[in-house]
Amino acid sequence: MLHDHLAKPCTLPNMMFTTIEFGDTEFSVPVRYQNLLPKGVGAQGTVCAAYDTVTQQNVAIKKLSRPFQNVTHAKRAYREFKLMKLVNHKNIIGLLNAFTPQKSLEEFQDVYLVMELMDANLCQVIQMDLDHERMSYLLYQMLCGIKHLHSAGIIHRDLKPSNIVVKSDCTLKILDFGLARTAGTTFMMTPYVVTRYYRAPEVILGMGYKENVDIWSVGCIMGEMIRGGVLFPGTDHIDQWNKIIEQLGTPSQDFMKRLQPTVRNYVENRPAYPGFTFERLFPDVLFPSDSSEHNRLKASQARDLLSRMLVIDPERRISVDEALLHPYINVWYDEGEVNAPAPGPYDHSVDEREHTVEQWKELIYQEVMEYEITHGHNALSTAHCTAHGPGQDDADDAERPARR
Ligand code: AMP
Repeated sequence: MLHDHLAKPCTLPNMMFTTIEFGDTEFSVPVRYQNLLPKGVGAQGTVCAAYDTVTQQNVAIKKLSRPFQNVTHAKRAYREFKLMKLVNHKNIIGLLNAFTPQKSLEEFQDVYLVMELMDANLCQVIQMDLDHERMSYLLYQMLCGIKHLHSAGIIHRDLKPSNIVVKSDCTLKILDFGLARTAGTTFMMTPYVVTRYYRAPEVILGMGYKENVDIWSVGCIMGEMIRGGVLFPGTDHIDQWNKIIEQLGTPSQDFMKRLQPTVRNYVENRPAYPGFTFERLFPDVLFPSDSSEHNRLKASQARDLLSRMLVIDPERRISVDEALLHPYINVWYDEGEVNAPAPGPYDHSVDEREHTVEQWKELIYQEVMEYEITHGHNALSTAHCTAHGPGQDDADDAERPARR
């Protein structure tokens, strides 16, 4: 549990950082960050809310504990960090600062990423009774963020409510960048169960994929907002596939032909399910209750959009651009948000790189140092450090070019 926190300021000799303990997680942050409060725990680490005394804004600080502990963790941390630096869109979480409290590559352990602070993740919002306005606005923003990632050549493939955050004013940001191109069967030592409920059939079945793979996840999230429960809560890939075909029906032969032989054999030998109509899957009573003409129209539009997103065969599924133009969504259409300038192209060779844990450690360390040099925010934190001893700046600088 992350409740009882003990302030332990000045554990490091130069006293630029302060260390707070939340249960068994230690947060060592520059003293500019105050009022730390635990906010959430993910597969990569712990997230705290804090107040940045320099910019005078609330921020979220994510600690990646020993991100190089194994190759999978390392690749993911490196990729996330690179992409966060690259992407700049209002519906994708932005990086405000990055630092490590350790003083050298040899000591290097943890990376901290400072981001804009949001209020809640989408898991919490899905539980609420959302009206059509909020639901369609949240979906519109997801689609804008996804389209922006696609414009940089990043296809997410793993969108889920825990990785989408919102503010009380209904603004939304996507927190992560999904699966690397070469992800797949890599084994990851993590105590967290990976949620696969939102993964598209082509991901579950190991097929090729295109941009509208992400539309499936949006469909699952939208369906959950309406139904109030996960649509396809499979315990594993096989169970997940069963849940999908029981509700949506066995896909066509045309789809089967595109499967790898062993997968095709399994899929074709499942019982044939007719599936249910979308009126049965999402009956009127599930939609926001106001029964005025206007809302009736909205419910039928919402169901129509769902029926175009939750399509097993990606060749028949709606595209991101089409979804943005759908009547349920296009009420929010803003050219600047939909077609924001694409970020610089993402170098996918990162996803293909093979390194040892030690090499990853060095690569991640270099990235953090480079960030500190180019942004130099953390140097400011020394200004707040009253107990900073004489001469220590020089000693520090010899090891950390970023503090120059
Ligand atoms: P992550 O480690 O990125 O999967 O985040 C774990 C959880 O921490 C999320 O599900 C959110 O509840 C919370 N969280 C992460 N980043 C932020 C943020 N920028 N603002 C608010 N909450 C966040």
